[in-house]
Amino acid sequence: MWHDYDSDPSGGCGLPVTPWMIAGEPPQLMIRVFDHGVFVAEPEGQWQGTRGLEYHPGMQRYLARDEFAARGQETVAEMLKRRQRTLRYCRFCRHPTPPELRFEKDVCMGCASEWYGVVY
Ligand SMILES: [Zn+2]
Repeated sequence: MWHDYDSDPSGGCGLPVTPWMIAGEPPQLMIRVFDHGVFVAEPEGQWQGTRGLEYHPGMQRYLARDEFAARGQETVAEMLKRRQRTLRYCRFCRHPTPPELRFEKDVCMGCASEWYGVVY
């Protein structure tokens, strides 16, 4: 199965056949597996009104099957490092918090509700 990525800049998010899988808590990596290779991407959280927080593939890289065998681990490690650099510890709960879940630079949204009474 081939997907025309040039005509679909979303990376085929809506295609149900081979969905993006999200790994990590908070999400740290997205991966999408095809017969011919693998896409790995940094997750980007976006708040979508009533649908809540949704993750979309941000910066992504494609590795053909043989490239993935040779350099998959290294590529995944690089992506994880980039994503982990965006995490900040919440000053209240000490959880590593990605930008999309932060109320302030060092306060997560959950703690903002609990300690500041913020209602979303
Ligand atoms: Zn917190």
